Amino acid sequence: MEMEKPKVAFFSFTCCEGCQLMVLSCEDELPDILKLVNIVNFREAMTEKSDDYDIAFVEGSISRKEEIKKIKKIRNNAKIVVALGACSSTGGLNCLKNRFPMEDVKMSVYGKEAETNYNVNDTIPARPIDSIIHVDYYIHGCPIPKKEFLNVFTSLLLGKRPDIPNQPVCVECKMAGNICVFEKGMSCLGPVTRAGCDAICVSYGAMCWGCRGYVDNPNTQSHGETLKKYGLTVESVIRKFSLYGKCKPEGK
Ligand code: SF4
Ligand code: SF4
Ligand code: SF4
Repeated sequence: MEMEKPKVAFFSFTCCEGCQLMVLSCEDELPDILKLVNIVNFREAMTEKSDDYDIAFVEGSISRKEEIKKIKKIRNNAKIVVALGACSSTGGLNCLKNRFPMEDVKMSVYGKEAETNYNVNDTIPARPIDSIIHVDYYIHGCPIPKKEFLNVFTSLLLGKRPDIPNQPVCVECKMAGNICVFEKGMSCLGPVTRAGCDAICVSYGAMCWGCRGYVDNPNTQSHGETLKKYGLTVESVIRKFSLYGKCKPEGK
């Protein structure tokens, strides 16, 4: 008797949907993936929808009251929930709005419509999905690296715990042979950020903005000393460094 294939669903909350696009960009692997699972929800790729699924990949942060009900329903339906990308895992760039009074944010973006539009009025401070539900696994990044999605996906199908990198980006940066950007007068979040992206931003001439979130035990003291060595203070870089820092909505 043929084994029933696991049912997989992809969901999107507040985000740019770039992480789902990374999944769709696995063109070479998708034919094999589709032999192993049934995809039952994927708004970016298909119109069919189902509430019957085993694994839910959830992209985007929670930024509306209505989304709280939806994410709880997904948790109830799924055996495994995977946060897909920075918006979902840490709150991501959406948390920038939390730095300002909510009424100012609404007026600044929507003008007069802010007073009457239901979706605008439903807005709440942005937050990661694990501030509402239990999350089993995380795929980090903005966007997620394709290879990490494939690793996690394969592990879940094999019934294995996915291996998520827990060393700083600096390790991969050194392996890539980059000159440290501190030597070029820039600052960088690589020393405290979770690796797994092959230090791609530094390799292309930028700094690490920390999109993959912090490693489990970030050595903030050592990072502070590095900043000091290069004439920088924590205060002078904190806003830049908190771009992808995990949102902590009030009361959480
Ligand atoms: S993590 Fe980045 S790429 Fe992914 S959905 Fe959010 S903003 Fe888009
Ligand atoms: S601080 Fe940044 S540029 Fe320097 S080694 Fe670490 S990741 Fe690379
Ligand atoms: S180098 Fe930093 S900002 Fe760039 S992808 Fe990696 S973790 Fe994200």
